[in-house]
Amino acid sequence: MSPTLPNSSSAGNGVLIGDGVQFARDGRAISGTIEVAQLPRITAAGALSARLAFSIAGFVNAFGFPSFRVTVDGSIALTCQRCLEPSEIQIAINRDLELRGTLEEIEGADDDVDRVLAVKSMDVTALVEDEVLLELPIAVRHAACEPAGDESVRSQRASPFASLAKRR
Ligand SMILES: [Zn+2]
Repeated sequence: MSPTLPNSSSAGNGVLIGDGVQFARDGRAISGTIEVAQLPRITAAGALSARLAFSIAGFVNAFGFPSFRVTVDGSIALTCQRCLEPSEIQIAINRDLELRGTLEEIEGADDDVDRVLAVKSMDVTALVEDEVLLELPIAVRHAACEPAGDESVRSQRASPFASLAKRR
């Protein structure tokens, strides 16, 4: 049983950790960079671009469970909801995930430990995307900016009422 790992330090779509438990117990690590095109759920959330460096390092935690230390650093550009210009969100994640064999173990746990289901092929990019999604703000706004295109927005907003008025 040999985990599928890339030869270089660059990982991307389709990179799998073949056996997460073994990866953790062996203290292995993987790192690379991810672009927005590799992050379908973050793209669906409106990301314009992303530049993320990640690492996943295996270890056994204080309770004896195989675990991943996931770090992600970089930025994601999302559309500011006020001015409609890109707004860079800084991402700095350092989170430990405890690997468990069943969903029941994860859902039944009554504590603050972050857990992930250990499956035979763990998709590295999807794992990183999961962690990044947790960090994305619900509403993206610059700290200080002006509402977008007053003239065009006002005229667009006015048009439905204008056309209703004409029908009357
Ligand atoms: Zn803005």
